[in-house]
Amino acid sequence: MENCNNFENLIKNSKNILIISHINPDGDTLGCMCGLFSSIYKKYKKKAEMLIISPIPKIYEFLPHIKTVKNVSDIDKSREYDLVITVDVAALDRIVDAQILFNKAKHTINIDHHKTNDNFGEVAIVKPEASSASEVLFDILKELNWEIDSEIATSLYVGILTDTGGFKFENTTSKVLNACGELIDKGVNPNDLYKRCYESKSKEIILFQSHCINNAKFENNDKIAYSIIYNKDLEKYNVKNDATDGIAETLRSMFTTEVSFVAKEIDSKSCKVSMRSKKIDVAKICSIFGGGGHKFAAGCTTKYSVTETAKKLIAEINKEL
Ligand code: 5GP
Ligand code: MN
Repeated sequence: MENCNNFENLIKNSKNILIISHINPDGDTLGCMCGLFSSIYKKYKKKAEMLIISPIPKIYEFLPHIKTVKNVSDIDKSREYDLVITVDVAALDRIVDAQILFNKAKHTINIDHHKTNDNFGEVAIVKPEASSASEVLFDILKELNWEIDSEIATSLYVGILTDTGGFKFENTTSKVLNACGELIDKGVNPNDLYKRCYESKSKEIILFQSHCINNAKFENNDKIAYSIIYNKDLEKYNVKNDATDGIAETLRSMFTTEVSFVAKEIDSKSCKVSMRSKKIDVAKICSIFGGGGHKFAAGCTTKYSVTETAKKLIAEINKEL
């Protein structure tokens, strides 16, 4: 693959390298970032910098080298990196203030798997058929014959595990399972990582999520299930934004649900949406509001209040049902 050679040459020839993960980071963007950091170190003994846009969910604090990440608010934005690499970033607005670093960089690479990714960057390795950005990186490492040790394998496995919903979503293919089998052979402990990713929630998060489920609303004969979340709910339960992860999936798990979403207040005039579906293309719906993602899992940030957002989303979803 020509792109892989460009990827290798850019990394080989760059002194300072910055890897950027997306806002509200999940297991895939963080796993891919840490896996790439370790891979570059293993191959060239070069330490890349890693950047986060918003706080790391507690459950991912075990990822190799994640403690060395920098926060976008603490980094010198006037710096011109030789190479900036985005991982799992569907669109550049998902790295918010770090776009300036991307735009200033001498060279750029975009590693992703969102079908709504427009192939931004000098070298774009975007595979919509891949389960995760971590699987895309796994393929690159294999193609280039770079060694995958147990540390790299752990990071990549976490990315694939979480973006397939624990090997449950439609993106779980034999290729994914074969790749994960290989990662297990490299030293991954699947049960340990399952427990870290799925059985490590705090009591506060469980109680907060029950509150959100309890407050769910239903439309169109229960085909649409959604929950509106206000900042005061987060404060009341003493949880952060990442506590909303998984609520849209729980609402989708209802027999009658076709589409579920969570609308989380940012302020009185903006709102973050997480949408899930069983059949219809929700990336299409979210792109109407400037977002995107995958067919069955997408999101957007709107310029309306939560209630206004819910109303507009329901109208768009109803057109597709
Ligand atoms: P989540 O609901 O878990 O935050 O995101 C679901 C999927 O939609 C992910 O693949 C994520 O990258 C994508 N996504 C979420 N929010 C946005 C957004 O504001 N813009 C775009 N382009 N994609 C998003
Ligand atoms: Mn992903």
